[in-house]
Order: sequence, then structure tokens, then C-alpha cells
Amino acid sequence: MKFGGTSVGKPERMQQVARLITTGDDAKIVVLSALSGTTNALVSIGDALAHGDKQSAKQKIDDLGGHYRSFVKDLLKEKLTLAKGESIISEHFEFLNIILKISFNEALNKDILAQGELMSTKLFSVFLEEKQISHALLPALDFMQIDANDEPYFDAIKVKLHRILQQHSDKHLFITQGYICRNSKGEVDNLKRGGSDYSASLIAAAVKADVCEIWTDIDGMHNNDPRLVKVTQPVEQLSFEEAAELAYFGAKILHPTCIWPAQQEKVPVKLLNTMEPDAPGTTITQEAGSEGIKAVAAKDGIIAIKIKSSRMLLAYGFLRKVFEVFEKYKTAIDMVTTSEVAVSLTIDSDIHLEHILKELEPFGTIATDKDQTIVSLVGNHITKTPHVLMKIFDSLSEVPVRMVSFGGSNHNISVLVPSAYKVQTLQLINKGVFGLE
Ligand code: ADP
Ligand code: ASP
Ligand code: MG
Repeated sequence: MKFGGTSVGKPERMQQVARLITTGDDAKIVVLSALSGTTNALVSIGDALAHGDKQSAKQKIDDLGGHYRSFVKDLLKEKLTLAKGESIISEHFEFLNIILKISFNEALNKDILAQGELMSTKLFSVFLEEKQISHALLPALDFMQIDANDEPYFDAIKVKLHRILQQHSDKHLFITQGYICRNSKGEVDNLKRGGSDYSASLIAAAVKADVCEIWTDIDGMHNNDPRLVKVTQPVEQLSFEEAAELAYFGAKILHPTCIWPAQQEKVPVKLLNTMEPDAPGTTITQEAGSEGIKAVAAKDGIIAIKIKSSRMLLAYGFLRKVFEVFEKYKTAIDMVTTSEVAVSLTIDSDIHLEHILKELEPFGTIATDKDQTIVSLVGNHITKTPHVLMKIFDSLSEVPVRMVSFGGSNHNISVLVPSAYKVQTLQLINKGVFGLE
């Protein structure tokens, strides 16, 4: 069971989490995020330090400290546990204050980012102690690991986690941190923003859990982004492939790559609402349940690159040479479209853009469009949605669509639009494809 930031962000929410994890007799591993707002605050403390602005970093640390001190007072009622909670807060804020005095580097930044999950789990553990709920706190840094490519090192995670669980064979309830891990150098690292979902899926796969429950602040995966579109509705069932596509293409409710571990071990994933625990939510399994388009998601920060070359394009080996450039710079390609004279593709990172463009130059004329958004419609046998392409293109007649990708799989139709048109595109699709206004 994984609980996100808002699910643990207030003392009364922690109370609710305690209720949910003590329902039923099954053994449970509970993965917690940092309290809502904490990781954002830690990111901005790191940014201030990276810019040498110690005064602003100090102010942010003090503000966050104030928030935690009042949180602990509201959460813990007994003298002994309150003292424990206060000492946890002092220890972590002392650490942040020491960092102010030493020279900043990226490894230290990762240490800063880890403080949120360390504090939330320790405080929750003291809270359970106060309620006399037997449990063990498992340090994620002792088993969660990534390799030299920043990918989870699944075999090591599995072996280490099993070893730790064996040491607590008398317990049925385990609490651990989401998001944080160790890298191949043994340093503290993380699974990127939103990574607690990934932790939960990895743990569920490692122990072959009956189910991986992702508890959040909404009743499941909705058909559209509820932050941008007024009327959205939850999707009852998704296949692993559909959920993975939606997560990768921007549905914030799930970390972009968190589905594969659960999928690999066929552990069903449920998306549930901490504030509305009886709502059915979304079930993600091998089976898709129904056919047709189920949801749309959008991924920002996309760069389109067009390579125009009448001479070489359709010659065999040309695309391989183009793709090799991206492989060399470890840059993933999301969308590809070709014509007789040109190929367009998209990437989601500009870290190596300059080098990539330089190496592509000999292949032809290169043009780039930045600030693009991939809007992905996802479902099962999507062509079974009646008049699916007509509905999409009719809806988007006013939008300057830059690329279209269809037929890559049975699960996805993607269009690339300038980011300025993202909200409008999602709203038009909500009306034209889902019939919601
Ligand atoms: P948590 O802190 O629990 O991990 P997140 O903020 O990461 O929660 O994810 C939940 C949020 O994702 C929702 O509150 C909602 O605003 C947003 N969201 C974006 N797209 C979708 C979608 N298609 N379905 C449901 N929620 C979505
Ligand atoms: N606390 C981390 C974040 O805000 C991880 C997570 O919540 O999933 O990104
Ligand atoms: Mg999240």
C-alpha cells in the first residue's frame, strides 16, 4: 500500500492511513511519500544552495521546520511519543542546517531530497507506536537500489528486501520510504519525482504481493487531466500496457515508468482514494476489460526534430544511422513519422540537443520545434471506438497539429501540438471523443 503526499500531509490523514493499513489480516508493506509540499520545498532549498544563496536556503529550511514542528504537535498526543517526534524533527533539521555550512554538490542535493520520506516514515512509525500498532520500519536505503544507468537493480532489491523481511518474521506490518534509494556508488539517490509509486511497484513485484495499492487524492485514473479539464470520470479497468502508456505520456497520478515491475510479476495495481476509500478506483491487470479509447494524457517539454533529405531518406540503413545518434547520447525517442523526403521525431530532453543536432547535420537539413506537447489517447483496440480518427481530427480542426502517430500499437494514438494548445486540445478531445463537457 503506497500513500502519496496529500494522503500523509495532515495529522488527520495519517490517522486515516493508520485505519486503512490495519483493516484485514493480511501482511502489508506500506510505502510513504513525504508530506505534501515537502519535496518541492527541499528542491527549492537545493536550488538556492546551488546558486550560492545561503540566506534564502536558510529561510526556506526555517519555514519548513516550523511546519514540521506544528505537525508533530498535532499528530502526537503522549509526552513520550511527542518527545520522540520532536527529536526526529530536530535531527533532520540539524542535518539541513549543517549542509548550509559545507560546500554544495549534487550528491549532497540528493541527501537533502531524501529528508522528506525519512521524516514522514519516522513520524508515522512513532504515531503507530503511540497507537500500539505493532510494525517494523524498514529503511529503503538498505534495499532499494539503482544501477549505473539509474535503473532499478531489481535482483538486488529482491534479495535484500527478502533478507530484511526475514529478520522481522514476527511482524505483519512494515513501513518504508518511497522515492529514496542508493545508487551504484552507494550514495543516497532517488527514483525521480513521483518515484514513490515506482518504489511501491518494485516492492510489490519483489515480494510477489497479491496487490499493489496506490492510495492518492483522487478516485483512480480519470479519462482526462482533472487539473485542466472540468468534467472527467474515473476509468474502472486498464491493462498494464494502457496504464504504462498513460503514465509515460503524462498522467501525473502514476510515475512514468512505475508499471513495469508489477506487470513483470503480474501483480494487479489498484489506484484508490485515501479520502474516499469505498470508491472503486481503477484496477490495472493483464486484461483491459473493455475496448475503445479510455483516457487521454499529455506530456510537455517535447522537442520535435525534422531531418529532410531527399537523397538518403528511404535508403536502407538511413534510419539506423539517425537513431544511433540518439542512442549515443542516451536520449529516448518518443514519436516518429516519416515521409518520402523527411523524418520527424521527438525527444523529451534537451540535455544533449546541441551535440545531437551537430551529428545529424551531415544527414540533411535539420529543423527543430521546441515547446511541444504529446497528447496521447490510450485504450484497448482503439480502432474499435466508432469513427475514432474522424472524431479526433474533427475535434482538433482548429489546432495546428505538428505530428500524428497511429498504428504503433493497439493502445495509442498520439498527436504532437504546440504546448500553447495543450489545454485546448485536451478540452476539445474531452468533448469530441469522450462526449464530456
Ligand atoms: P500523490 O501525491 O498521491 O502521489 P499525485 O499528485 O502525484 O499524488 O497524483 C495525483 C494527482 O494526479 C491528482 O490529484 C490529479 O490532479 C493528477 N492527475 C493528472 N492526470 C490525472 C488522471 N488522468 N487521472 C487522475 N489524476 C490525474
Ligand atoms: N516525495 C517525492 C515527490 O514529491 C516522491 C513522491 O511523492 O512520489 O516527488
Ligand atoms: Mg505522485
